[in-house]
Amino acid sequence: MKAHDGMYIGGEWRPAAGPDTIAVVNPADEQVIGHVPAGTAEDVDAAVRAARAAFPGWAATPPAERAGRIAALRDVLAARKDEIAETVTAELGSPLPLSQAVHAGVPVLVAGSYAELAASYAFEEKLGNSTVLLEPVGVVGAITPWNYPLHQIVAKAAPALAAGCTVVLKPAEDTPLTAQLFAEAVQEAGLPAGVFNLVTGIGAVAGQALAGHEGVDLVSFTGSTAVGRRIGATAGAAVKRVALELGGKSANVILPGADLAKAVNVGVANVMSNSGQTCSAWTRMLVDAERYEEAVALAATAVAKYVPGERIGPVVNAKQQARVRGYIEKGVEEGARLVAGGPEAPRDQGYYVSPTVFADVTPDMTIAQEEIFGPVLSILRYEDVDDALRIANGTVYGLAGAVWGADDEEAVAFARRMDTGQVDINGGRFNPLAPFGGYKQSGVGRELGPHGLSEYLQTKSLQF
Ligand code: NAD
Repeated sequence: MKAHDGMYIGGEWRPAAGPDTIAVVNPADEQVIGHVPAGTAEDVDAAVRAARAAFPGWAATPPAERAGRIAALRDVLAARKDEIAETVTAELGSPLPLSQAVHAGVPVLVAGSYAELAASYAFEEKLGNSTVLLEPVGVVGAITPWNYPLHQIVAKAAPALAAGCTVVLKPAEDTPLTAQLFAEAVQEAGLPAGVFNLVTGIGAVAGQALAGHEGVDLVSFTGSTAVGRRIGATAGAAVKRVALELGGKSANVILPGADLAKAVNVGVANVMSNSGQTCSAWTRMLVDAERYEEAVALAATAVAKYVPGERIGPVVNAKQQARVRGYIEKGVEEGARLVAGGPEAPRDQGYYVSPTVFADVTPDMTIAQEEIFGPVLSILRYEDVDDALRIANGTVYGLAGAVWGADDEEAVAFARRMDTGQVDINGGRFNPLAPFGGYKQSGVGRELGPHGLSEYLQTKSLQF
């Protein structure tokens, strides 16, 4: 795989400050596919300086012109989608059709949405005798995870650029090659030097340096709760803006009148997609007592189609594999009924985990409370609709969810009572403009669409 041995800073690939590198491993066969530089605080500092220097010019660029550059970036991402898909498959292990449709396809949609929003957004509004100006916050430090390597980058960089901010990105150490491709696309699209900068490196060094840098005005982070807490505390101490997207334990609520087969099949597909490494995955399926066993049987049939190495890929690395298998063991220990899968690795090579379904999961079990981030579905039984609501709202998270009812009205009535940021009603389609983000400990702030853009703006009022 092609890998740059430098950092993308100030519109050019520059040598890294230090000699250390990170090996990039293909999780499907455990082979090293490339090396990227492990950035230091010095690299981060150079990138933040470049972003600061570029900020006044980019902030003053008319929104229509910024929109044109983002549209050019979208076009490059679209033109290079095969290369992007192959790179994601190589470093994340996702099956190629998934990489093509989702990992390469969705970022084109999201970049396109911000090309349009940059051109149409009301950056100025009248309020009585005031003119309210919505101005870019400044330099953004973006720290992204590996689960949707390009989407996570575009969901931060595109709105930041649309708002007039400049960006320094520290991508996940497992998937830096996709981030390098994005930097190439930025260069090819002709964005001005310094508007977007990339520093690869490990979280505790480069990530921490970026989050704590005094030249960064806003930190946008997606990843684990533990790191998110630390970043939030650092930002708080410096009175700096922060956006955190920290995962979830979302509920797929199947009400008594719903189409059970459809709800279960879509629910299983949702959890198994990307090997369960989706922060918004509906990892808890809630079914009424009467149709519970029928749902369990349907889920067991549906999950059998996810053959490891064919329809479902490995998880990202050995640490995640051990973590997910640990959760499966915990589920068995705590008395859940294993319906499919289990803790044994299904293949000798690669970081594979058996697609697993647990029945008889109770709300207090670890597997019903903690984010597993692997192909593991828990099916819970509820007694009545109020009980379903208590269970659905009964975790520290609140990122996403689904409700299936006899009709949309019934499902919406339930969704209104859920403590969560996004709910799909009777299999509602993905909308790249819909705000995405958490209630409770799932995070702070929203990504995507106009709400995602407003995260990168600050407000000034002028009175006449
Ligand atoms: P992580 O939080 O350690 O990594 C996410 C990003 O933060 C990476 O770019 C990493 O380099 C960086 N980082 C790590 N330590 C940092 C620090 N001290 N300061 C600044 N940046 C730092 O996540 P992980 O270890 O890759 O995954 C662990 C768990 O996190 C997963 O099992 C899953 O539960 C959760 N997770 C959630 C999401 C999500 O989309 N919300 C994504 C990935 C992982």
